Amino acid sequence: MALIVQKYGGTSVGDTDRMKNVARRCIAAQKAGNDVVVVVSAMSGETNRLLKLVSQITDRPSEREQDVVVATGEQVSIGLVALAIQAQGGLATSFLGYQVQIVTDSIFSKARIKRIDAEKIVEALKQKHIVVVAGFQGQDEQGNVTTLGRGGSDTTAVALAAALKADACEIYTDVDGVYTTDPNVCPAARKLDRISYEEMLDLASVGAKVLQIRSVEFAMKYKVPLWVKSSFTDDPGTLVCEEDKSMENVVVNGIAYDKNEAKLAISGVPDVPGVAARIFGALDAQNIVVDLIVQTASREGKTDLSFTVGKTDLVKAKEVVERVAREVNAGSVETDGDVAKVSIVGVGMRNHSGVAAKMFQILAAEGINIQLISTSEIKVSCLIQSKYTELAVRALHTAFGLDKAPAAS
Ligand code: ADP
Ligand code: ASP
Ligand code: MG
Repeated sequence: MALIVQKYGGTSVGDTDRMKNVARRCIAAQKAGNDVVVVVSAMSGETNRLLKLVSQITDRPSEREQDVVVATGEQVSIGLVALAIQAQGGLATSFLGYQVQIVTDSIFSKARIKRIDAEKIVEALKQKHIVVVAGFQGQDEQGNVTTLGRGGSDTTAVALAAALKADACEIYTDVDGVYTTDPNVCPAARKLDRISYEEMLDLASVGAKVLQIRSVEFAMKYKVPLWVKSSFTDDPGTLVCEEDKSMENVVVNGIAYDKNEAKLAISGVPDVPGVAARIFGALDAQNIVVDLIVQTASREGKTDLSFTVGKTDLVKAKEVVERVAREVNAGSVETDGDVAKVSIVGVGMRNHSGVAAKMFQILAAEGINIQLISTSEIKVSCLIQSKYTELAVRALHTAFGLDKAPAAS
């Protein structure tokens, strides 16, 4: 008897017919001889709707209260999916994050799971129930409601799979696997049968939202066999697994983009030791994650410093940076939300030179200006103007030889 954790995303539970489809799939998995735990997201568009309500009240919400609001989307889904399973003759029990219990730290809106006490789930499984768990939410040690960041239901599913020592974790979504890039942006994208944890981690870290990065971290750490599949077909999907030698033959394995970052630029920053530490220390103290950073060469003892943060942190980040800029006698702080980060990823890059240069040439040939750059052993990211995202993704996909063969006519 195997234990499977299945996760259904927003589109897969987007209306009650789709929830009935999820119920059918869960019951089929149970009838095939498995214990089934199913994690569900809020109905598609619901989390955005809830965030919009918050923004209509204030643009500087208390993150504790914001989490209280946005966590409600998943409550509706688990109740309805459990009812759909029961209506089809199955046994089902739903659980919210605090009931399970999924215990997190207290960083509201991007909390990290610390531990899971899955006793109630194990009990319900023993009673042959399909267990329906709310994704995206937990509670901290003080009992406050927390959420795990956008896309966090993926992480709930993988963390539960690790805690329950499940035989597999299946992420059901609106595409039938992990592709070389977002198939909704690039029609030539190719579906991958397998991808290494490491590459998936890098793709997710640069914005491929098919899996939340923390879910991949959990899967890699606890060696959870992780599948990405479509909730609308029976195709085998993509297996995220340990790297094997054959995977290294390709230099660039995937392209990703992220439109959720915004740029801040501080001019006239005194070029003396400790200033960068003060600026980024102040951002860190507010739990603001900084991504790409560029500092220009020093001229007359001053430099310009540009970097990106998540778009949702922009208002807070600007306030923090303006304060520190005043304290250290720096110049003005400019912001730009009209940017996108485009990245290439591949373990094969370790052994190949000139990959970054080729990326810059491809973007230049399309007339796309690069604002910030960051590189690591197996990825290169460029910040560009947002309106060029699709063009950049398609051009890079073709130039790095990732396009699928055109269909025979
Ligand atoms: P869910 O609501 O099921 O969690 P998401 O919208 O979070 O679904 O993630 C699925 C989406 O991820 C796809 O519709 C696709 O547009 C996007 N995506 C981005 N990069 C990739 C990729 N490399 N492979 C597959 N899908 C991708
Ligand atoms: N509902 C949350 C979101 O939209 C979590 C998820 O879907 O994974 O981000
Ligand atoms: Mg998602």
